[in-house]
Amino acid sequence: DSDTMDLKRVIRNIPDFPKPGILFYDISTLLADAPAWKETVRRLANRVRAYQPDLLVGIESRGFLSAAPLAVELGLGFAMIRKRGKLPGTTIGHDYALEYGEDRVEIQADAVKHGQRVVLLDDLLATGGTAAAGITLLRSVGAEVVSAAFIIELAFLRGRERLDVAVDSIITYD
Ligand code: IMP
Repeated sequence: DSDTMDLKRVIRNIPDFPKPGILFYDISTLLADAPAWKETVRRLANRVRAYQPDLLVGIESRGFLSAAPLAVELGLGFAMIRKRGKLPGTTIGHDYALEYGEDRVEIQADAVKHGQRVVLLDDLLATGGTAAAGITLLRSVGAEVVSAAFIIELAFLRGRERLDVAVDSIITYD
């Protein structure tokens, strides 16, 4: 039965990626399992629908994987937040600090209409730095960010405490 399907079973854990000492949660095996991926999208859709968004936004690159089918499921459009220099035309950017150094996220200037209710999507919430940068960028272009939704949440890293929006995730590691 779909409500009791154990999605953790199809998440693969890869030690020492991308660096020694890091345990990487790999969703490739979830994407490859048709019933499990369908159920992932169904559960995310039920969460995201409740915020009555006008637009979905995915963060490069695995955020696109959930944003695209969710947009179809909910009858919405979706936009991309990408790393520096990847988007054509006029873009708005936000620079943010990493553990070592700095990064920049960008969105096309006309991707969001002022006041639109936006849900931000990514595959995984860890420290929350990536999502926080996405939310700041979206606000700078006039979005009302109503929630951030993730497939996986590493709850022990307390990322949701860094995000001042509603946070949803469907697979949690404590
Ligand atoms: P944060 O900024 O620390 O919350 O890290 C989240 C970002 O890094 C997301 O864009 C994820 O795609 C990526 N990420 C961090 N750890 C993992 C992992 O274990 N598996 C997959 N992606 C990860």
